[in-house]
Amino acid sequence: MILIQITIDGPAGAGKSTIAKMIAKRLGFIHIDTGAIYRVITYIAMQQNVCLDNEDALVQLIASTKIDMEQQAEGEQKVFCNNIDVSKEIRDPIISKNVSRVAVLPKVRQELVRMQRELAQDKNVVMDGRDAGTVILPHAECKIFLTASLEERTYRRYLELKQRGYNDELEFVKKDLARRDYIDENRKTSPLKPAQDAVIVDTTCLGPEEVVQEILRIYQEKKEALNNVL
Ligand code: C5P
Repeated sequence: MILIQITIDGPAGAGKSTIAKMIAKRLGFIHIDTGAIYRVITYIAMQQNVCLDNEDALVQLIASTKIDMEQQAEGEQKVFCNNIDVSKEIRDPIISKNVSRVAVLPKVRQELVRMQRELAQDKNVVMDGRDAGTVILPHAECKIFLTASLEERTYRRYLELKQRGYNDELEFVKKDLARRDYIDENRKTSPLKPAQDAVIVDTTCLGPEEVVQEILRIYQEKKEALNNVL
């Protein structure tokens, strides 16, 4: 059986995790949400009062933290930190506000990239994040860069937060997404950008099912091209 790995990168709120989850379920692949891993480290650092700019302390913290992801039958993914379910806590706006500060640190990235590669090794995976196609899995067979206008991403994130009981103003959500994108796109180590061989999918006017269909079409094309070579 040929190994096929799919990477989905893009800015905050583009729907990467939702789409990656749906694709993984349809193809029977493993879904790896790399953003969740950065969120867990930010969460545990804040819990333990570790300064979020202290690179060495964070690297030590990574070494002593056990992170597990468990796919539920309904497609939901649970995230565990030292055996405690933190799936809800890591999505709190306070984590979203601070996570890019942690993700900017090169040694932190080095450790987490190593962990993410191990999770994906020799497996059919759908991995979503910011540097999945450029750094973590540079040889992935199918690379997607998912994007949408800032207004559309803001509205989607606003609705999602509302559903989860947070009543943040639309303008606040927009500023937070734009600030996070700015930090992610401009950091020195593995900035957010499409891989050279990524296909850009603009989802501004598309619903989730349409996005899934488009990515499955691209995946089929790549798979056929691979089969022709082998
Ligand atoms: O995908 P999500 O919004 O949960 O990611 C949270 C943050 O983690 C991003 O804004 C980014 O700073 C960081 N991240 C990253 N590299 C990844 C995944 C996430 O820097 N591969």
